[in-house]
Amino acid sequence: MNALENPRRRRLLKKIVLAASVSALTMTAARAAEAPLIAEDDPEAKAVKYVDDTTKAKEGMGNRCDTCSLYQGKDGATQGGCQIFKGKLVKAAGWCASWAPQM
Ligand code: SF4
Repeated sequence: MNALENPRRRRLLKKIVLAASVSALTMTAARAAEAPLIAEDDPEAKAVKYVDDTTKAKEGMGNRCDTCSLYQGKDGATQGGCQIFKGKLVKAAGWCASWAPQM
């Protein structure tokens, strides 16, 4: 009988895989919370005219990061990830020229 045929070992393996998955998700969320905010003068931000307060934008018509399909922040959060700025956060009230409506 191999390890996967033994019900006790199979249950133990399932628990180990589940614990590893939960740990990986927790670490990903913690890293996202620790990521720095992107600065408006960051070259990546400048390239897409990012501002951390949409009222400062000359364009954008009042659209905000938290209504953008590329925004990854949680509902009600003041900041969150953005698919175009890997490893950095944007303000929920921010905006950039890559804003795209949520579907
Ligand atoms: Fe904000 Fe969307 Fe621009 Fe990212 S792509 S900075 S979420 S407006």
